[in-house]
Amino acid sequence: MANAYQWNCSVGELTGVGPARREALEKAGIRTLGDLVGCYPRAYQNRGDIRTLAEIRTALEEAPNIPYAVILTVASEPQYRVIRRGMSITKFRAFDDTGSCEIVYFNAPYVKDNVHTGAVFRFFGRFSAEFKSRLQCTNPIYEPYTEDKPLREIVPVYPLTGGLKQNQMYRYTEEALRRCAGEMTEYLPPEVLQRVGLPSRTYMLNALHRPPSMEHLEAAKRRLVFEELFIRFLAMAHNNAVLKVPNTCPTPHTDFTAFFEKLPYELTGAQKRCVSEITADMAGKYAMNRILIGDVGSGKTVVAAYAAYLAIRNGYRCALLVPTEILANQHYADLEPLFAKLGIRCALLTGSTPKKQRNAILEGLRDENLTIGMQPDDVSGIGLIVGTHALLTEAVQIDSLGLVIIDEQHRFGVMQRAAILDKGQNCHCLVMSATPIPRTLSLVAYGGLDVSRIDELPKGRQRVDTFIVDSTYHERMLGFIRKQAAEGHQTYIVCPAVEENPEKKEKQSADPDDMANLSFYEEETDTPMLKAAVEYAKTLAEELPEMEIGFVHGKMKPAEKENVMNRFCSGEMQVLVSTTVIEVGVNVPNATLMIVENAERFGLSQLHQLRGRVGRGSAKSYFILVTDSRSEDSMERLRVIKQNYDGYAIAEYDLMLRGPGDFVDKTGTRQHGEDRFRLAAGCRDVEFVELAAKEARHIADTDPGRKQYPLLWNRIETMLSGGSHTLN
Ligand code: ADP
Ligand code: MG
Repeated sequence: MANAYQWNCSVGELTGVGPARREALEKAGIRTLGDLVGCYPRAYQNRGDIRTLAEIRTALEEAPNIPYAVILTVASEPQYRVIRRGMSITKFRAFDDTGSCEIVYFNAPYVKDNVHTGAVFRFFGRFSAEFKSRLQCTNPIYEPYTEDKPLREIVPVYPLTGGLKQNQMYRYTEEALRRCAGEMTEYLPPEVLQRVGLPSRTYMLNALHRPPSMEHLEAAKRRLVFEELFIRFLAMAHNNAVLKVPNTCPTPHTDFTAFFEKLPYELTGAQKRCVSEITADMAGKYAMNRILIGDVGSGKTVVAAYAAYLAIRNGYRCALLVPTEILANQHYADLEPLFAKLGIRCALLTGSTPKKQRNAILEGLRDENLTIGMQPDDVSGIGLIVGTHALLTEAVQIDSLGLVIIDEQHRFGVMQRAAILDKGQNCHCLVMSATPIPRTLSLVAYGGLDVSRIDELPKGRQRVDTFIVDSTYHERMLGFIRKQAAEGHQTYIVCPAVEENPEKKEKQSADPDDMANLSFYEEETDTPMLKAAVEYAKTLAEELPEMEIGFVHGKMKPAEKENVMNRFCSGEMQVLVSTTVIEVGVNVPNATLMIVENAERFGLSQLHQLRGRVGRGSAKSYFILVTDSRSEDSMERLRVIKQNYDGYAIAEYDLMLRGPGDFVDKTGTRQHGEDRFRLAAGCRDVEFVELAAKEARHIADTDPGRKQYPLLWNRIETMLSGGSHTLN
């Protein structure tokens, strides 16, 4: 009996596929005809868009380096020459009505046998023009051209591995499409397709492989992107429903005048909104699972403090988990006096807490006496515990833990978050992040969490003046550092990853905005970069002998790093050079100058975060971007920083310049099957992302029992459990 489903047939059954090719296909993850159908081209060549040589000559000035299609008559017999061992060159001239050009092939001896004077070909390739006159085309694809037999116009380019060739993939996908034609079941709800104006799945699959026109291709891609986003959102909605836990730490007591009275300022409107969202959550039906997002300096800490107060006032303990000891110290120094005024005990637990004190704290976290009004020196009845990873160990037990707050959440892994939450039962969770993610994308990135956003800076913030200079400015820069120091202020200098390995370098400049950098950790392998930065710090120390200059880098022992950072924080040290980006959240209000060397190597959001380290005090602050890059792209990116002071605006630019993929993938919320969302990652249309989210919410709401769209839910289920990419 024939296979019930062609979709599941082995690629071994395809015409012309023997064991060797079958193996090559399987190595590329293509086992079935369905896999082939799901193996979309990575690009398309629009060979149907025929230009004249005159047009190309003009277009080259604006858009060099993109391939063009031309129909040319060969003017001369190809000249074949061996230049040296393993390198041959074939040249001939060809013309159309508007001019002529030289066609050149490297290492293609067969061309001279296929191409002869007077023959007409369609060429598709990249052109170049020397001195405007000598138009040349190198290694173009050539196809014999006749009026009566039309050539393919839009040609798919398949991702290839294991010695497979384009024309083979073309044949295989052709056969797979034909055999699977009746099996391309639609799983998106018809009303969604209609509302959004998307083609059917059959249309999409056919058009992706064999686009009859660019319009067809665009429609198919649109559906593909939508589908990916939609399914992702729906999966999240589904996950959320499953993850919701009942609120077993309710907070009925809500008289907080005491708290607000103790603050030296009034909350901003945005902070107030976040406060009421948190209040509603903690009193609600389910445990809070919320992210608090706000630009650097927007005042997240006080909102977190409020949440802590709310929990403690209602008889629970609160744990504040932060990624570094410096940050833990700072939070403790900020919060302890405030909570002391409210009669609540705070404690700090880090890796360097002395054993005796640690034991006292561990006891204090189990003490039943949590009431207000304790003796100042008494560690019993700790209400708020601030700490680093040291909090995560099993020895730390926290009785009546009602709220966990995690600062800079992207610095922690899923396991660490689970470890702290496990110390309580269904406790509320508030995570904080300063990573500016455009509003719409937060839908994707923060999937499972409710979002509170502080989108307003406290009044009276000074603007940090931003300058873009090149390295000839170095002398003046030294003068500027001296001037700051003379006024009692401090300077940060940040050096980026300077790689010596050219391959890596290229990779880096291709994607300088790698948000992974936002975790502010260096890659362990960056020894050359370290050398360059060490060199820099040494030179600087010679140039500024009168100053105390510190140097921190990612490979330092934490204690050493801590030591340098503390000396900078205390003002003992005037200049801090750092390879690793200055810790997020570090607060040295006395620092008024930040210099970023090779600024073009940093991501926009990263630069914005860096700038947030200065301008924290009352003195005027400066942010200097040093770059010798001549690239217009780099300059444009740096100008975005110079001209924008709003992290979200900058994030939107980032999005425009790169598409949302990086935001989505680097926020530590990767889900199963994430790598499938490749196309959606390239989508720059934010409204479209929103539309997909809206439709997903709508479907989740109208079909809570998951009965109405079995094919759709089935697909999501399979995807969540890591099923095949090309399931049907
Ligand atoms: P971030 O959101 O980056 O963590 P912080 O919570 O550290 O920001 O707050 C930055 C500074 O702003 C702190 O010195 C804080 O005291 C101050 N601040 C916070 N909220 C307000 C406000 N509503 N008015 C004035 N200053 C505020
Ligand atoms: Mg902070």
